[in-house]
Amino acid sequence: MLLTPRARLKSALLASAVSVCLVAASAPEVPLGVGDRLFPYLGNPGYDVASYDLAFTYPGTNTKPLQAVTTIDAWTTTALDRINLDFAQGKVESVEVDGAPATFSSAGDDLVVTPEDSLAAGSWTRITVRHTSDPVSTGGRDGGWVRTADGLAMANQADAAHLVFPCNDHPSDKAMFTVRITAPNGYTAVAGGLPTGVERAGEATTWTYRTQHPMATELAQVSIGRSTVVHREGPHALPVRDVVPTKDRELLEPWLKKTPDQIAWMEGKVGPYPFETYGLLMAEASTGFELETQTLSLFERDLFTEPGYPKWYIESIMVHELSHQWFGDSVSPRTWSDLWLNEGHATWYEALYAEEKAGRTLEARMKAAYGASDRWRSTGGPPAQPKAPNPGQKISIFRPNVYDGAALVLFALRQEIGRTAFEHLERAWVHNHRDSTATTADFEHLAQEISGRDLARFFKDWLYGEKTPPMPGHPDWKPAAPVAKGEPKAAPKVAPPAARAAK
Ligand SMILES: [Zn+2]
Repeated sequence: MLLTPRARLKSALLASAVSVCLVAASAPEVPLGVGDRLFPYLGNPGYDVASYDLAFTYPGTNTKPLQAVTTIDAWTTTALDRINLDFAQGKVESVEVDGAPATFSSAGDDLVVTPEDSLAAGSWTRITVRHTSDPVSTGGRDGGWVRTADGLAMANQADAAHLVFPCNDHPSDKAMFTVRITAPNGYTAVAGGLPTGVERAGEATTWTYRTQHPMATELAQVSIGRSTVVHREGPHALPVRDVVPTKDRELLEPWLKKTPDQIAWMEGKVGPYPFETYGLLMAEASTGFELETQTLSLFERDLFTEPGYPKWYIESIMVHELSHQWFGDSVSPRTWSDLWLNEGHATWYEALYAEEKAGRTLEARMKAAYGASDRWRSTGGPPAQPKAPNPGQKISIFRPNVYDGAALVLFALRQEIGRTAFEHLERAWVHNHRDSTATTADFEHLAQEISGRDLARFFKDWLYGEKTPPMPGHPDWKPAAPVAKGEPKAAPKVAPPAARAAK
């Protein structure tokens, strides 16, 4: 994710109901989680989802709920009397487990399903939930469906996929996805992955897409709108497709055509593009951020049409989301405390691109980040131990400590182990952990292995320290003085842009 310049510049950015069916009185249903330090109730223990089949029927307006059927194929890892799913916005009509009706109830953000017969450990199970999926927030919660000028898009990061569909909503449980969208004729529906069929029946058309790589729930994307899908070819004949408002196709083309070269640039840095396709989804909506949804990144159309942003800056943001396909999507965080691995790397390649293509030196940006880093650590926590999300605040855990604050850690690491080892590490990281999840400890181990150095102290200080350690090779760099009393407490802004001034 990347906050838009507006949000960055302003910088002061600041439960819902599942319908309940009566259940026989027994021990109370309780919300469960997989123990994520930042989101204790996300995900659920006892099973591993292999695939989701999501079927949505769009009513032709984005103010009414979609009808939906979510089918989950999962492998049980323990014996289960109940299956907890995450689902917190929408009405559940029925649940079946392995074809038999099951009772269900809500507890916190969980949909608790009780099958007729309990499930044995080490067995396949299929859970089918008929429900609505409501694009209108019922609990004042951000995320999930994004209502656009002409339909819907999706923005589930970090904890909002379960506002859209029942799931095991934690990035540690990646799965394959099939998405079917039925919409009135005249709309175009696109989801992550590749199309596998379009069927027109009377007044409606059903579009089906399937992923070829596992995906975290937070990275799912579904677009429904008056859109055109623009196709082109990327490196090694990679199918590149962008989804744009039909009326803006010509206007946006100068930006869209940059993608193949940007992919080639990233491949030159870290190795082959990890997925079956890529493209930009240009949404007419003010989300306040751009988002690396897998194979189809979500962008605000206005980022490209507002005259205030310099060209190099917009391109570097495109590269930020593109680089997330490697860092964050193919290699996804095991827990949300590993978020710095997503955003630190995306910021790194964003900045590196700006350096190589527009002469905005990485070192100057990192020096500025160094100056702000102590304040970022104090506001958001050390990069690998971020503070919990502020309830009700849109910015959630996406604070400067995991963006430029974490890119600064990578810069320090490159200073420490040298450019050759660092570049080798980056390639090995996305290769070794592709289509999987990984932790901060995994990154530390690989860095030590590749550099042949004991980096325990380095990582402890840089990733977990309350204060920013001295920068290797730059003893003259100093943290800025603390904010004086009475000054506004707004997050400091290092990241560009001279947006208002430049063209
Ligand atoms: Zn990002």
